[in-house]
Formats: sequence, C-alpha cells, structure tokens
Amino acid sequence: MEKALPIMLLAGADKNIHDDLQNIFKDTYKIISADNEYECFNALSNNKIEIVFVTLNLQIMDGLDFLKTLAQDSRYKNLPIIAIVTFGDFDSVSRAIESGASDIVTTPLNEMMVTYRTRNVIAHCQQAEKDKQILEMNRYLEIDALTGLYNRETFYDKAANIIHDNPEVQYCIVYLDISCFKVVNDLFHTETGNLILKTAADYFQKKINPQIGLSGRIEADHFVLCVPQDTLDMDRLIRELDDTIKSLGISHNILFFAGVYPVADMTIPVDQMCDRASMALNKIKGNYARRYNFYDVGMRDRMLKEQMIVRDMEFALKDNQFTIFLQPIYRPETNEIVSAEALVRWFHPESGMISPGYFIPVFERNGFIVKLDRFVWETVCKFLRSRLDAGKKIVPVSVNVSRLNFYSYDLLIFLLNLLKKYDLEPWMLKLEVTESAYTDNPQQLIKIINQFKENGFPILMDDFGSGYSSLNMLKNIDIDVLKVDMAFVREIEHSERARIILLMIIGLARELGMGVVTEGVETQTQLDYITNMGSVDIQGYYFSKPLAVKDFNALFDKYNP
Ligand code: C2E
Ligand code: CA
Ligand code: CA
Repeated sequence: MEKALPIMLLAGADKNIHDDLQNIFKDTYKIISADNEYECFNALSNNKIEIVFVTLNLQIMDGLDFLKTLAQDSRYKNLPIIAIVTFGDFDSVSRAIESGASDIVTTPLNEMMVTYRTRNVIAHCQQAEKDKQILEMNRYLEIDALTGLYNRETFYDKAANIIHDNPEVQYCIVYLDISCFKVVNDLFHTETGNLILKTAADYFQKKINPQIGLSGRIEADHFVLCVPQDTLDMDRLIRELDDTIKSLGISHNILFFAGVYPVADMTIPVDQMCDRASMALNKIKGNYARRYNFYDVGMRDRMLKEQMIVRDMEFALKDNQFTIFLQPIYRPETNEIVSAEALVRWFHPESGMISPGYFIPVFERNGFIVKLDRFVWETVCKFLRSRLDAGKKIVPVSVNVSRLNFYSYDLLIFLLNLLKKYDLEPWMLKLEVTESAYTDNPQQLIKIINQFKENGFPILMDDFGSGYSSLNMLKNIDIDVLKVDMAFVREIEHSERARIILLMIIGLARELGMGVVTEGVETQTQLDYITNMGSVDIQGYYFSKPLAVKDFNALFDKYNP
C-alpha cells in the first residue's frame, strides 16, 4: 500500500494559490482547502494537519482574525502556520507575524522560497513542541522553592488569567533585575545572595495585593510583577526596595533595575510581555542614573525588524541578496589606490537596502556572521580572479573577520582553500581583525594570527583605539597595518589632544614597521592635517564612498591605469 502523504491546510481557498501550492507540493503533501473559519477549524479537528497556509485579505474570511483565534487556542500553539501576503505589503507582514503566523511568504509564490520556509517552519515548530512537553513535565512544582514566589511557568499562567479576566484594568508587567548579582554571589557566600533574593521576594509579597496582582521569580535574580497600572509607583517601588535591601547591612551597593511593559496588547502571551519589559530594562543596563524604563513602540518596531532579519537571513544568502561594495584605500603621496575594503550590503526585496550597521550586530549575536563573512571572502576572491583573468591590475582587498570566526576550527583551512580554488596568493587578501576578538580570548587569537602570518596573510587591526585593549593587542600580536578609528579623524580639527594622539599613533606604527590607514576622512582640512603628520593611507568619503564593484573598477582603472 502507498504511504499516505502528510496534510496541508490552505485557509482561504484562493484558486490560483491552491494551484500554485498543488504544483509545488504535489509529491509531498495532500492539500485541503477551506473557505471560512468554521471549515478551517473542522478540518483542523478532523485531520492531522502538518502545516497551515493562510491567505490574507480574503472576502469571505479574514485571515488575520483566523490567525488570532488560532493563536489563542492552546491546542494549536506549535502548529506551523505560514501567511501568504502580497509582495510589498509590509504592513500585512508585521500584522501577520504579530497575529501568530510562524512565517510569511509573498505572492507570486516562489517555489524555492516556499519549500525552504515550509521545511524551516516545520522544524522550528516541532522543536518548540518538544520543548513544551519537557516544560510541562518539569512543571508540577508551582512555587519557587527559594523565595516562595510563583515560578516562571506558574507566573505566566496566572498572569494570563488575571489579565484576561479583568479586561477593564490596565495591567503592567514589571521585570526586575539586580545589578551585578553574580559579583555579590562571588564576593559573599551564596547564602548572602539567597538572603537578598528572599528579602526582595518578601517585599513583593507584602507589597502586592494577591486579589489584584502577583509576583514571580523567573530565574536567578530576575523577578516579575503583574500589577494594575494605577497602583504602580515605580519611584517608590525602587526606593522601598533599596531601603529594604539596605537594612540587611551588606557592605556592597545592591541595586534593582526594572523595565515596565504596560499591557497594550492582551492577545500576546505573557512570556512575550515579559520580553518586552526586559527589553525596556536592557535599554538602561549599565546606566546607573536611570533605575527603570518603560517599553515603547519604537522598541517593538526594532524588535520586529530584528525578527525579520533573523527570519530572512538564510534565504537571503541563498537568494543572492547580499553583495559586496568596495571602498578604495588611497595613498595621497603617490595619488594611487593601494587597496580596498570589502563591505557587505543587503538588498532586501521588501525593505530595500539594509545597512550593515543594523544587521551585523544581529548576526554577531546569532552566529550567522560566520557564514556571511565566508560568503564575503569568497565574493572578494571571485572579484580578484575575474580581474586577473581579464588581464587587469589588482590591489589587495581587505575583508572583515568578525570575532566569532576565531571559534571555527577550520578558519585557516577555509581561507587556504579559497586561495587554491581561485588561484590567488595570500597577499591579495588582507584580514581585518578588531580588538574585541582579542578581548574574548587573547591566547586563541594570538595562535591563529600567527598561523595566518606563517601562511602569508597580511593582518590589519581595525578600529584601532576604539576599545580598551588596543595597546595590549599590539604588544602581543604581529600586526601589519593599523586602521585608526574614525573617532580620531572626526576630532582632528577641534581637538589638540586628538591631533597629538594621532601623531603618536603614526610614529608608533612607523617604529614598529607597520602601515597606517586612517578611516573616515571626509574633508580637505582633515586630509591636510593627516598628510602633515606622516605617510599614511586614507579611507574615507573624501576620496570615495564604498562603491558597487562596477563603479570601483571604473575608478580604479582611472587611477591605476
Ligand atoms: P568598518 O569595518 O569600520 O568599516 C568602515 C565603515 O565606515 C563602513 O561602513 C564605511 O562605509 C564607513 N565609512 C568609510 N568612510 C567613511 C567616512 O568618510 N565617513 C563616514 N561617516 N563613514 C565612512 P559600513 O559599510 O556601513 O559598515 C559598517 C560596519 O559594519 C563596518 O565597520 C564593519 O564593522 C561591519 N561590516 C561591514 N561589512 C562587513 C562584513 O562583510 N563582515 C563583517 N564581519 N562586518 C562587516
Ligand atoms: Ca573593517
Ligand atoms: Ca574600521
């Protein structure tokens, strides 16, 4: 007997979309279409549906409403749902995600994108379902043993109930964190740490009327409260908390910081409300002047944008949405372009060009930067090879090597293989390293950089002078070129100190036999100051912005015929 295919539900039976999906999935899914919400839920309860596609903007049925109803039904919590949105309708994209869609595809449907996203979403939801089961197994204890407050899961449950049962009350989620709690735990005994946590918990229990609010401990030193806004006085809460903790007489300044999310959207799960409060808290981390902060919509937009970046990155790489721009590095003494830096650009089909300043930090957080950097390096190698094949002159191109790369065991092998594949020599590819890589793990970095050097790659220290360990890194690693951080050039006209430091850096580099590139040169005056200080190369808008490869070639051939 033939094996039955898994079932896909198409909510909102649009004939064209149905045909497209049928074409894409004819061998992998049986597709059921349903016209209205009633039919959809019928289909869901009578079949084992593996994935749902929802068309938005329908006449008979509102796809967003359907998504919201689904999202509120715990039976379908981890059901993979993909919303189908018209290309360019960015508003629907964010609304669909907020209403609970796991992902988005746009019409006209692209087979590769649809299959890719489907696979991704299913894998993701299955993992979430597994996590949920594990959580449920662990959850028979409602109360946090140490503090007597609700534990995380119970807090989420009870807060959801209290918020939904009192729709007329404006609730706030308060997320609290103790500054440097780890230090306290290390400096004193664990018992002292525990005493602080218990004391804070007692305060919350006394302070919050259980009829109308509740408190919980989410993990370690993170507490959450759910209280009506009109009973919440944050200044007072923080002050009283300080006094209570002070009364313990511990000789260390223990401070609570808080983020507050006034519940504006009751349909989102409480864990997301807590995330929003925690997001507000993160904004003031390290800023001792401000002890609490309210969530605002700008944060949500940034988060949605970040979610979009994370959602789209893998596909974007496959879909060739990333390209490189080249910024010439110019030598005033000889009026030549002596090198170039490859800088990545993302041309997103819906959002247009996204700046690396925006997505690189996200990729550094989630690790994707390692893949993207490798893509950039290979693109640079292709570029060099194509010029060589055309009998054109080349200069070395520098690439950024983000700090996470230094944790990959095959970094050097990857680079050497690239050289082999494109028949290039190591001097053609210069590697830019920032000191954050050094701060992370100095021994590891020293080891790898030595291997690079043995293999002939030139090493540049990027953003020199912008961090804390620039000189240490310089002392311990044999670097070929210093790229002086833009901040120095920016100050050069106004600050004598910046001029002196820059002069010293250039002298230091000369003594150590290193080259210098100053970044961010924008004006003639800045250029004059710098050229008077010694022989340096410059990279900056004054000479040229980063250019598309075609434009770079044109400029280069003009300067270096
Ligand atoms: P960076 O490595 O310090 O690159 C120099 C940045 O300064 C580039 O910004 C460049 O466009 C900009 N710039 C150059 N001249 C001037 C000037 O005269 N004035 C001003 N205001 N800016 C100038 P971009 O391309 O936006 O890149 C920003 C950062 O993103 C880079 O800083 C780098 O840290 C990161 N990045 C870019 N591409 C890559 C990549 O392929 N891999 C990794 N890991 N990071 C990358
Ligand atoms: Ca750089
Ligand atoms: Ca730089």
